[in-house]
Amino acid sequence: MDIFKPFAKYCLDPLLAFHEGSSHPEYLEEYEKTQFMTKEKIAERQLFLLKNLLIHAYKNCPFYTERFDTFDFNPYQLNALSDIKKLPVLTKQDIQQNLENIIASNYSMEQLSLNQTGGSTGSPLKFYVDLERLQSRKASTYRHDRWTGWDIGVKTAVLWGHQRDFLPQQNWKNKIRDDYYERKLFLDTSNISADKMKSFVSQLIHFQPEIYLAYANSVYLYARYLKENNITDYNRPHAIITSAEVLTPVQRTLIEEVFECKVFNRYGCRETSIIASECSAHNGMHISSETLFLEFQNNGEDIATGETGKIIISDLLNYGMPLIRYQIEDAGTPLDGDCLCGRTLPRMDITGGRITDFLVTSERKVISGASMTIYFIAVIDGIAQAQIIQNSLDNLTLNIVKSLHFSDKTEIEIKEKIAQYFGVSMKYTIEYKDQIKSTASGKYRFSISHIDPMEFLS
Ligand SMILES: [Zn+2]
Repeated sequence: MDIFKPFAKYCLDPLLAFHEGSSHPEYLEEYEKTQFMTKEKIAERQLFLLKNLLIHAYKNCPFYTERFDTFDFNPYQLNALSDIKKLPVLTKQDIQQNLENIIASNYSMEQLSLNQTGGSTGSPLKFYVDLERLQSRKASTYRHDRWTGWDIGVKTAVLWGHQRDFLPQQNWKNKIRDDYYERKLFLDTSNISADKMKSFVSQLIHFQPEIYLAYANSVYLYARYLKENNITDYNRPHAIITSAEVLTPVQRTLIEEVFECKVFNRYGCRETSIIASECSAHNGMHISSETLFLEFQNNGEDIATGETGKIIISDLLNYGMPLIRYQIEDAGTPLDGDCLCGRTLPRMDITGGRITDFLVTSERKVISGASMTIYFIAVIDGIAQAQIIQNSLDNLTLNIVKSLHFSDKTEIEIKEKIAQYFGVSMKYTIEYKDQIKSTASGKYRFSISHIDPMEFLS
């Protein structure tokens, strides 16, 4: 097999690659094979793709032209993956302040898809993904999904707090695709009530999905609801994929006990889509190394396998807006040794990530902290970082780090959003901080609550 064949077009003008690009079934077919390549071949392929990306970025992205020149970095002389360490990391602040200059000048806005994140660290970020990359992202996700027993046509329930992740354009074509092709049932967990939980039970019994894809905390809360209310008649899937939030061992144990199936934990982000996920061996997560190059570092130095360090990601295929040495502000542990499943893709554990407690509104509704990162914080201009603390049923503290765009309007927007999501009678105090730090293990607590949401769901 020629491992570079589908990517040869990237040697050419990326504009041409866009017009002659592969569709996601072609990428999927490729990734089904490449997951069994030797480690040497995987590294060889990464070097090939990385070099092409760097040359493209140097030629077409003013931000990288200046950065490479400043650090006397010649992309044509990249001879080893480790050569990339001559470049500094790309921070979220770099992207927030240089967005227009990171976009490739040979891409038009019609060739790019705008996305934004509430951020695994609470820092909102706007970014673009080229349309070709969306195809390889979808294929990569399908490939990882298949490790759980899922395949195209298998019914999936999505317990998720942000509907637009799955329904970007609710037109009739997508509706048909969701109903008959992808066969997904979307259950909105951005806000939850006892009635909604009851409705989840009946909808899932009716739909009979074989796989759940869920915010970790959402499916945990649903499992608790079933157990603590002694409900015995409910749908039991064959596998559950958890994502978007930290999955604790306690949560995993209860979810597996209630649903009588295995949990496949997953690590991903909006900026690059799926990064790594568990296979049937449940022995760490395989990294999507055909599309991403990951580094694990502490104080600018690579760490040994088994140690924990900051994750730095280069997306090898997003030519529209290259992310090169992107510091995602999560912590992970690279793992050594072969996996029992036979796949050769490198493995890691996610040790950091986003902890997002459920919050309770003044009307005693339960809302997902993870959803608030995107519905609330990400849409307000002027916030660099945020943390919501629920002190009591009628009182919040908002820790805010200002961005360059902060103005009086920011506080007005915060007031409006608090009223919209938490109720007009919710009291809150804003405390401005220089930064909001992660815990020692790299976990970032976006929302903190000492109130048990189950009190309002029985
Ligand atoms: Zn494996």
